[in-house]
Amino acid sequence: MRDNYGRIISYMRISVTDRCNLRCRYCMPESGIKKLEHSRILSFEDIIAIAEAASDLGINKIRLTGGEPLIRRNITGLVSQLAGLPGIDEVTLTTNGTLFAGMAKDLHLGGLKRVNFSLDSLSAQKYEYITRGGRLEDAWQGILAAMEVGMHPVKINTVIIKGFNDDEILDFADLAYRYPLQIRFIEFMPVGDLLFWDDSKVISIKEVKSVLSEHYNLVPTAQIGNGPAECFRLEGGQGGIGFISPLSNHFCSKCNRIRLTAEGKLRNCLYDYHETDLKAALVKGISREELCQLLAQAISRKPERHHMQAGWGKANNRKMYQIGG
Ligand code: SAM
Ligand code: SF4
Repeated sequence: MRDNYGRIISYMRISVTDRCNLRCRYCMPESGIKKLEHSRILSFEDIIAIAEAASDLGINKIRLTGGEPLIRRNITGLVSQLAGLPGIDEVTLTTNGTLFAGMAKDLHLGGLKRVNFSLDSLSAQKYEYITRGGRLEDAWQGILAAMEVGMHPVKINTVIIKGFNDDEILDFADLAYRYPLQIRFIEFMPVGDLLFWDDSKVISIKEVKSVLSEHYNLVPTAQIGNGPAECFRLEGGQGGIGFISPLSNHFCSKCNRIRLTAEGKLRNCLYDYHETDLKAALVKGISREELCQLLAQAISRKPERHHMQAGWGKANNRKMYQIGG
């Protein structure tokens, strides 16, 4: 469907859990999070019901996220159910990758088309530091497994943080040169509890580009997938580079997405704290047609743009891992 600003909404990101096996400094508190009662989390039946209604409205692409989606029990079963729904053309996943290697074949057979990995450092020590205990080797094995089963283009999302990994920009580019990987540099955003975020840690994509262009010839390419990245090929290399600059160059006018939290609240934007409680509606036994109407009403309230520059805001009581990154 089209929203009130004429944007075609075709993509839903579904958070399947707010829990995670890592504790990235910019995302989760060290102590972990207060566990939601199982009954408050969307069941697979709930997720399928919402996906069916969403597909009636024209959603044809679903991305599973979290928290860490691969820790949800029988995630492979959910992937194959979603991939089998008429109207859903593509099921994808965003993951830290540490559990991916052992599941790659089954996920692929289940119909997972593509996967985005989050990886903020290529140094084992720094990876362990930023994730508070993760093993770089586990994530790397996941990335290799995705390439092996042929989930191309395999993407890596790298949040660039001044003083932490800005000295690794060329190392990441080198990875994209040597492997058929799409490295996407993302500006550090003020989301979540902001324990780690502050203005001085933000590097604009403009700065990242200027470091890269001293060493590589970046050749603009068509957008890969339907994300917000500006895409480039590395001349002579196997993979490519993407830039996502939510702060310095917002892409709201092209936004095609909605988000579903692990608790079943529909959000139109990471930065819009209005939510529509779909789980509550499902508990009441809402029909597919009524669910469609509720979704359509919610989407009609999608704001024109985010106001990230104004900060996360006190009114915004959710963290990134709760909304689904
Ligand atoms: N656990 C999975 C993972 O790490 O890919 C999926 C959920 S995670 C919340 C999704 C993405 O959000 C990750 O790529 C992470 O780097 C990104 N993210 C979290 N906080 C962020 C921030 N403050 N700025 C930019 N990206 C952020
Ligand atoms: Fe977990 Fe992903 Fe958040 Fe890291 S960014 S703590 S992997 S949910």
